[in-house]
Amino acid sequence: MMIRKIAKFFIFYSINTKRHMIKKNKSWRKKRIKADEMSKFKNIDINLIEKGIWIVQCDAGYKDSIAGISILIKTYEKEYEPIDLSRKANGPVHAELLAIYYALNEIKKKKTEKTKVRILTDSRYALNFVRGLWTPSRKYIVDTLEKIKKIEKEISAKIEYIHVNAKINRRVDRRAKKARKKKEEEIQKRIEKRVMQVEECLRKSESIKIEEINGTFYTHSSKNDGTKYRVSLKPPSCECPAWNEKWKHVPEPGRRARRLPCKHICALASYLGEDIFKIFKKQIERKT
Ligand SMILES: [Zn+2]
Repeated sequence: MMIRKIAKFFIFYSINTKRHMIKKNKSWRKKRIKADEMSKFKNIDINLIEKGIWIVQCDAGYKDSIAGISILIKTYEKEYEPIDLSRKANGPVHAELLAIYYALNEIKKKKTEKTKVRILTDSRYALNFVRGLWTPSRKYIVDTLEKIKKIEKEISAKIEYIHVNAKINRRVDRRAKKARKKKEEEIQKRIEKRVMQVEECLRKSESIKIEEINGTFYTHSSKNDGTKYRVSLKPPSCECPAWNEKWKHVPEPGRRARRLPCKHICALASYLGEDIFKIFKKQIERKT
């Protein structure tokens, strides 16, 4: 009994001391610390943000033309739900600039009063560009910077860009990487679907006969009504509705990038001993 009582007392005592310590900590945290000094701290504490100031953490993960972007917005009053998205990008710096652009875009949407917006990034390259210290030469950087400048003017608050070390941005960094991976998986799934589509087409093409007249190839419509379709492989083309109807209203560049073979083109490829997957590699494996 006695031992139990002593133990209880100690547990009670230690919990209360801990509580006391937390309280103490909080009062220390309430001291206002400027966001510029924040990099000294492991985490940006919402209690440290002054009224009217918006803190925006943004980061991008880049690989194989895909940028995963994560944006975290905090104000004096609240922390918003993180925003994750993915976009096509031309490189890691471009991805970071896009992250800044979309961060500003999110800020623009918020109607609450803003006196100062602080954009936190861990990319020195992106920072040098947005601060105007570097002059971009690549068109996609120039274009993105122009978009950033335009949106800066639309936000009626002073905008500051602050470099933070990767540790502070860790949360958005992780989310950005996740967003990129998710997009990559989506793309992979779409590629697999296209492969299956072409495989199906190839199966259907087995019953199609190819006729060769003076170096031009023809197939007969499966309706057996005597309709002939001229079909070619270089470049891939066919007179059938499947190849033409669906794409009638799509502009030529989009058509060239996305159109998958019809069963007649598949049949011709088999007839000539060519690999249809090689011929349509770009269309099957496209990322957009
Ligand atoms: Zn066809």
